[in-house]
Amino acid sequence: MKIIDFHCDTIYRMMELKMQGKKVPELFKNGFHVDLEKMRQGQVAAQFFALFMDQEELKREGIELFSHFLEMVELFNDEIDKNPTVMKKATGYQDLESNLNDNILSGFLGIEGGEALEGSYENLDRVYQEGVRLITLTWNYENELGYPSKDPMDRDKPLKAFGKETVKRMEEMGIMIDLSHLSDGGFWDVMQLTKTPVIVSHSNCRALKNHHRNLTDQMIRAIGEKGGVIGVNFAPYFLSGNEEVSRIDDLLRHMEHMIRCGGEDVVALGSDFDGITGSLEIKDAGTYQKLIEKMEVRGYHYDRIEKIAFKNAKRVIKEVL
Ligand SMILES: [Zn+2]
Repeated sequence: MKIIDFHCDTIYRMMELKMQGKKVPELFKNGFHVDLEKMRQGQVAAQFFALFMDQEELKREGIELFSHFLEMVELFNDEIDKNPTVMKKATGYQDLESNLNDNILSGFLGIEGGEALEGSYENLDRVYQEGVRLITLTWNYENELGYPSKDPMDRDKPLKAFGKETVKRMEEMGIMIDLSHLSDGGFWDVMQLTKTPVIVSHSNCRALKNHHRNLTDQMIRAIGEKGGVIGVNFAPYFLSGNEEVSRIDDLLRHMEHMIRCGGEDVVALGSDFDGITGSLEIKDAGTYQKLIEKMEVRGYHYDRIEKIAFKNAKRVIKEVL
């Protein structure tokens, strides 16, 4: 069964080593959760690679966010160039389709944390030109767009003016609007401002695990009504009371709850590989099919499995990009 995954931090891991002056492993084969070899084993057809920048850390080192973003794009592009027969950079639905036909992996680029834009619409145009097709509006820091869900004091705060205008422009340009990490107030602002599907790339259900990174039932319903998707996150601490172990049973509990709230068209995958720690039953991209097998054992209908693994994500890519 083919897989589309909305979030991994592999490029950040590679960039981290580069900045420390250490040897940077290849994207083709490495010790991380995600590499091209594992993607093939796990039947991953498309992966959204998040470009994550820790603004506080970079500020301390005197590095500009946007130039750092460009360096990460370069690192990604270099890896693509090294593996022309294995993965291609994808910027639209047509790319995904033709790569599927050619049995080539699709690598989409995303930005985790709108601070990379440095409050500039020119930079928004520029990231589009560089191939970015998904922006997670905030990470865990306040930025020019809005506030994160992290601090209870910020949770109900709205999107800022730059955030509102950026969201409108993203919708026009065809960049996925990703609400993972965003404040609850910001979430509802985006729902009001947008007509096309929006996504939550790597979050779970707050009703099952009360964590600010997870979504309330009303939020899940609202995403479903807009035709959007939520990528289920594999991190132990977003799944259950056991903060060390990520079990497939817990992933399925969250998926089933999402289906109850938002219908079976709302569930997708957003592993958060290379951004999470703990003992993971799906230990890396190479073992993705264990999830499919467990869904079959549970008696999920083939159509439902296909939607969760692949089709829901593909539908949104087609509609938005
Ligand atoms: Zn994240």
